[in-house]
Amino acid sequence: MTSETGGEGRSCVHTGWSRTRPPVVARTAGVLSVFVSFVVCLTVYVQNVRSDEPQAAETSESTAVPGSQPKFRTELIRGQIIWLAEALKSQFGISTVPEAAENSLAILTGDGQLLPIVENLRGRAFRKDERLRGKDMEILTRRYDQQPLIQVLRVYQLDQGKRYEVDYWCDVCAIVMYETGPCACCQDDNRLRQRLVEDDDAAGAERVNGDGKTDK
Ligand SMILES: [Zn+2]
Repeated sequence: MTSETGGEGRSCVHTGWSRTRPPVVARTAGVLSVFVSFVVCLTVYVQNVRSDEPQAAETSESTAVPGSQPKFRTELIRGQIIWLAEALKSQFGISTVPEAAENSLAILTGDGQLLPIVENLRGRAFRKDERLRGKDMEILTRRYDQQPLIQVLRVYQLDQGKRYEVDYWCDVCAIVMYETGPCACCQDDNRLRQRLVEDDDAAGAERVNGDGKTDK
């Protein structure tokens, strides 16, 4: 039996059924399969994966006018992300009920500020992956004037004076994700990715260094 699977290439939707069809049908199905996979991956990428990308990382203030969008500022905050209940206890001696232990996450800065975070896709990454908790980080954030929760835009881990951007990656589909788990496209496990940051790609964000000092 001849094999006609050579032209299929790598795809993130693994149907496999085209291998047993006649060559022309198999080839057409293969092309269709790759095309559908591409569209599915692209849709997932655009709609879900990139939805939390910072849109104003280069500006430290929104340009909102009164009556339109709420005002926010973009800050690069240095600290560790830990459970809020744990930090309330260790920093302030405030006890919480047992069921609140893993309710919320917060950034604890070096000078003891406790900043609760929004649990969106980027925030939930710290719940789902303990490798991210309790580590020295720089978090690019958005903070609105009218509400206390901090929105995580990008995550950098600090290690021996170097800075690594942290996200999750699927080697098969070559797409980025923001939390550990199955790939949004092919469902294979993604992997934690740490990329050395040479340039200051968060330039323009206000810096909260956790040493009691805030600078631009
Ligand atoms: Zn994948």
